[in-house]
Amino acid sequence: MPLAYIGLGSNLNDPVGQVRCALGVIAALPESRLAAASRLYRSPPMGPSDQPEYINAVAALETALAPRDLLHALQAIEHDFGRVRLRRWGERVIDLDVLLYDDLCLDSPELTLPHPGIGERAFVLRPLAELVPERVIPGLGPLADLLAARASDTCEPLEETA
Ligand code: ATP
Ligand code: CA
Ligand code: CA
Repeated sequence: MPLAYIGLGSNLNDPVGQVRCALGVIAALPESRLAAASRLYRSPPMGPSDQPEYINAVAALETALAPRDLLHALQAIEHDFGRVRLRRWGERVIDLDVLLYDDLCLDSPELTLPHPGIGERAFVLRPLAELVPERVIPGLGPLADLLAARASDTCEPLEETA
């Protein structure tokens, strides 16, 4: 089965609970198996700075869903969680991005693969590197090199108590 990596982010209404809950819903997607999930990470907001910090994670999903079907399934989850788009890169209860789908490269506004933000975002690179440190990102190169270039960015794993 193809292996997709999904980036999760939340900064509203108990973000830790939102991300954990979304991981559970993703694990229950049809024709799919949750292969791995990173720890939860905290990072400052990207875009408008007058919003709470984010909780981020990355999930590895084996899935027989085609890339667009996977995107639509994730958008349906965002909708079910009550996501409302108020401003670009603004606060949200859940954001689910398809980061990678095998080594597929797509360039359409609806679905760009690899996800266009991967290379610059520590909150994507760090949890992804926890799962697949040796991964090469199509068009960008080794994940380890991308991560090294973002070494000074703030993005820390949560202290898990349970
Ligand atoms: P960013 O995409 O920079 O992380 P965002 O997640 O806040 O910002 P959204 O409002 O969630 O942006 O999504 C905007 C559009 O991005 C969606 O309508 C979706 O069709 C499109 N999109 C393109 N490629 C992808 C992808 N790989 N994963 C998720 N959405 C994508
Ligand atoms: Ca995003
Ligand atoms: Ca998104």
